[in-house]
Amino acid sequence: RWSRVKGRLRTSVGEDVYTSWFARMDLESVHDESVHLSVPTRFLKSWIQAHYAERVLSCWQAEMPQVHRIDLSVRTAMRHAAPAKEASVPQIDTRRIERTDSRPAVELRSVATAPVSASHDALGGSPLDPRLTFASFVVGRSNTLAHAAARQVAEGRRGDPVMFNPLYIHAGVGLGKTHLLQAVTWAGNSGIERKVLYLTAEKFMYGFVAALKTQTALAFKEALRGIDVLVIDDLQFLQGKSTQAEFCHTLNALIDAGRQVVIAADRPPSDLESLDDRVRSRLAGGLVVEMGSLGEELRLGILKSRVAAARAHHASFDVPEQVLEYLARTITHNGRDLEGAVNRLLAHSKLNNQPVTLEMAEREVRDLIRPQEPKRIKIEDIQRVVARQYNVSRSDLLSSRRTANVVRPRQVAMYLAKTLTLRSLPEIGRRFGGRDHTTVLHAVRKIEALVAKDVSLSEEVESLKRQLQSE
Ligand code: ADP
Ligand code: MG
Repeated sequence: RWSRVKGRLRTSVGEDVYTSWFARMDLESVHDESVHLSVPTRFLKSWIQAHYAERVLSCWQAEMPQVHRIDLSVRTAMRHAAPAKEASVPQIDTRRIERTDSRPAVELRSVATAPVSASHDALGGSPLDPRLTFASFVVGRSNTLAHAAARQVAEGRRGDPVMFNPLYIHAGVGLGKTHLLQAVTWAGNSGIERKVLYLTAEKFMYGFVAALKTQTALAFKEALRGIDVLVIDDLQFLQGKSTQAEFCHTLNALIDAGRQVVIAADRPPSDLESLDDRVRSRLAGGLVVEMGSLGEELRLGILKSRVAAARAHHASFDVPEQVLEYLARTITHNGRDLEGAVNRLLAHSKLNNQPVTLEMAEREVRDLIRPQEPKRIKIEDIQRVVARQYNVSRSDLLSSRRTANVVRPRQVAMYLAKTLTLRSLPEIGRRFGGRDHTTVLHAVRKIEALVAKDVSLSEEVESLKRQLQSE
């Protein structure tokens, strides 16, 4: 009968699913209405209960209509070695079985004994970059909290109460998510005490799918369960219903067992649209931290840390402070561009055997420079800068005086107000001592015409614009 039930189950769920979830399910006993089944791990038990309880029951009912209940328990390792036969099933003390263990019966021992290789073994961990450690991570305003939480997680010991679970870090591209996650992995793996596994969401996906194909899904799942800290990078790439279900289950199982989960993604949980609702709420239930864009100070720190790292191998490489400041000020917020800039300067100065200069830097990193954000220029700023340039007072500009040394600067200022701000002509007139909008229009036309033919005025105007933009 048991084998017929198994046959039905196999047909009903398909060979792959059957092999990965039910192959090691054993029959313990049958008592009129209830059937007692067992599986080797708690993980399997909860998964089957959550997803296949109905299916299992209906397969039994097809063979034995009187069955109304399925009890599922976790076998001890010993019982697993000697599977129960249908005929002579001793009564099982369920409480004892329930207590058995939170660790799976099967564990990948190699993970425990070779901490660093944990990232490259049968589990299919993603490769780690040896440079991405806490030592090289620069802390600034935008990442203080994420860094502190990551450190806390990394320094935990096996069995410590887990404070933030999962720890979910989100930030845009190049803002240090992978750096921080790998730092956690390195730090956690540096002792033999804990098993930390770093996986990109893609790797998780492929690992699971590949395991299903080769029918080692069970080993994959149980290996995941043997981990103390699971680190998943780029969660936004997790796709596919069955992988999400698998991920969700792994997440729940790990968290329930008091293991730490650390996740990074490019958006907050609420924006992970393709993700199952339950996963999303579980993610949001831990600590969610955003890392903001890299401020100038942080960019400078990262540049310095990169240069210091490069100098370890290239002692003659040096970047003057002035160049570092220039790069920090002008390069985009993306950390990858900072890294790229240092690499280029290094390559250039090595290949040409030249010291790094500001001119070289300007040339080499031109394409990495952040487009100037349009600055909101105020009419007061225009009046102040123009007055300074022409050596008149601001009240002169606003007055009704008509002497030539005041009229021209006033017209230039009104022209700039029209071209650099969104203010209307009447508004500009009001701000220039209550003038009429036709006066403003006249000034704008006049300067436009002059700029077209008077090179020195055109240069003056350009210089004023630059001053206003860079203030
Ligand atoms: P993300 O995974 O968020 O896209 P990465 O972690 O890959 O970003 O960071 C991109 C680059 O910027 C890497 O070279 C990384 O080392 C560097 N970086 C980003 N933030 C920091 C930081 N706070 N300290 C040091 N390096 C950083
Ligand atoms: Mg990344």
